[in-house]
Amino acid sequence: MSKKAIVIVESPAKSKTINKILGPDYVVLSSMGHIVDLPKNKMGIDVENDFKPEYIVIQARRKYMAQLKKEVKKVDTIYLAADPDREGEAISWHLKKQLGKGKKVFRVTFDEITETAVKKAFKNPHPIDINLVNAQQARRILDRIVGYSLSPLLWKKVTRGLSAGRVQSVAVRLVVDREAKIKKFVPDEYWDIEAHLKKKNKEERRFFSAKLEKINKKDFEIKNEKDIESTVEDIKKNEFVVSKIKEAKKKRSPQAPFTTSKMQQDSFNKLHFPVNKTMRVAQQLYEGVELEGKESVGLITYMRTDSVKVSHDAQEAAAKHILKVYGKKYYPQKPNVYKSKKRAQEAHECIRPTLPLRTPESVREFLEPDQFKLYELVWKRFISSQMTPALHSVNTVEIEAGIYLFRTSGTKVVFDGFMVLYPVITAPEAEDEKRQMPWKIPMLEIGERLNLMKLIPSQHFTKPPARYSDATLVKALEEKGIGRPSTYAPIISTIIIRHYVKRIRGYLHPTELGDIIIELLVKHFPKIMESNFTAEMENELDDIEEGKIEWRMVLKNFYAPFMSRIDAAKENMKSIKKEGVKTDEICDLCGKHMIIKWGRRGKFLSCSDFPRCKFAKSITTGIKCPAPDCEGELIERRSKRGPFYGCTKYPNCKYTSRGLPKQEENPEETKKEEPKEDTP
Ligand SMILES: [Zn+2]
Ligand SMILES: [Zn+2]
Repeated sequence: MSKKAIVIVESPAKSKTINKILGPDYVVLSSMGHIVDLPKNKMGIDVENDFKPEYIVIQARRKYMAQLKKEVKKVDTIYLAADPDREGEAISWHLKKQLGKGKKVFRVTFDEITETAVKKAFKNPHPIDINLVNAQQARRILDRIVGYSLSPLLWKKVTRGLSAGRVQSVAVRLVVDREAKIKKFVPDEYWDIEAHLKKKNKEERRFFSAKLEKINKKDFEIKNEKDIESTVEDIKKNEFVVSKIKEAKKKRSPQAPFTTSKMQQDSFNKLHFPVNKTMRVAQQLYEGVELEGKESVGLITYMRTDSVKVSHDAQEAAAKHILKVYGKKYYPQKPNVYKSKKRAQEAHECIRPTLPLRTPESVREFLEPDQFKLYELVWKRFISSQMTPALHSVNTVEIEAGIYLFRTSGTKVVFDGFMVLYPVITAPEAEDEKRQMPWKIPMLEIGERLNLMKLIPSQHFTKPPARYSDATLVKALEEKGIGRPSTYAPIISTIIIRHYVKRIRGYLHPTELGDIIIELLVKHFPKIMESNFTAEMENELDDIEEGKIEWRMVLKNFYAPFMSRIDAAKENMKSIKKEGVKTDEICDLCGKHMIIKWGRRGKFLSCSDFPRCKFAKSITTGIKCPAPDCEGELIERRSKRGPFYGCTKYPNCKYTSRGLPKQEENPEETKKEEPKEDTP
């Protein structure tokens, strides 16, 4: 008996897990991601002919393609089981075109690689959804048009090898704009006053602290030391009397289970994983990890989703676990239901454990440490999302001293609820909040007089906005409607690899190159560089996916105005290649100003009088080359694989490293399955 059917997925790890579920009647093969793509050496789009794309088999996939063709001959049924989204649908569609002639071809989709989900999907195979495919094609072609038109322009005006992209450049702009705000920021001085107070009776030795809130019933503002001194003196003349005591119960509800962006943010804040690492580890958990008996098991649902929906089975399993381990008080009377944001793909689910009863501890020994950490985070977030709210009691006390009003508050946990499992830790920026917490307020009565121990004025300055981290940039991209679950991680990797942005101690800084490129692009392509425009474009892609608009219309509307901008920019964009970027440095030979230019391998200083004066020098980091017996210094270089550091004594010294010691973290390679923007 020959095999019944062939199943094609995109990765070997996924094929292994599915193979085990389907048994010996099926042969499960992997396509290694996309098998066809636009050609690399040219635009590959026939604009005159309705934007017809020219697809070719990717060089590196030819071997797999030949193998697939051979295997397919032995059967008459093919199941295409790539991931359940645009990219997966397009992979399946291309596979069908390449291999499907004379065969029965079905598409099967599932959000989790478990026996129940996979078997159910195979009982309900369906045709390929051409709307999803067209949304992918439109996205691919848009990115190709933008990437293959803007990049050569930048090569001519700045230096070879640069790239620009439809979404990546808008993301760089966010980082550049933020940096400009930080540079322009002027800190504002302000003061506050803290009073240390104590009950009048002698036994009470502890004091508590209250902060000045109002003067004469109005919010106050004290801007300098002189004013604060007179205020402090004036406050001291008064008696401190308790004027108001308020106790309030505060409910804190659990957070929804993870979407892609929320998982990326939480994993960055709690586990310190850069977003592309989170996605790499999540993919391993989704595709399958070998547990007991070497059986490959998918541990979490599909990791690219913007839905917070939970399946009925998963909800019941969570209820069972919560009731068994924590008891009735921790499970709500009606299951918690969360609302996804407006355009979420409701066909999908949230990111959750495939089997809620599989606790992190029960699989710990089979997981790599990073896999364990992320699984634990996903598991706890999901289980806690199904639990009861936490209840706090907040005590607020107001104390009057003449016209001065002081206030203090203390918080007590009445019932921990979901926080027993998933304590809410706020981002590092909210660190200040925590410091107000530990003051214990003694029992007080209205009208009670207090002893003033000390008045402590303190000086503060307003702070500039914080630089973006991976987490806050993903949050901003999502809020502005730029990018989708599949693109947040590749956007960040791309802008770092392209050397437009540097990640230093977790925060994103623009490079000089990033600054100059954004300046040029904003000036000549104002519309494309607007967040709103990019968000609209993403919405139109969603409309294609839902069959509301025709994909070629979207391309047509975009193409003509964009190309006329390109033509104008070819004429009018200033040439950094000639003009460079001004610096204060003086030429050693002729005394004229030096300017920064970008060469093949990175930036350097050139005399502004070039070509009359040919003096040029490299811009080193000032850090000595660590190679033994080398007198050189480290210098920043660019390469296709991202920025790196080399030695000024190259080619005599071949030292290179990805980052300066303890300074920069650069991304690892991006995943193939994620849509990367197109640059030649
Ligand atoms: Zn000179
Ligand atoms: Zn060296």
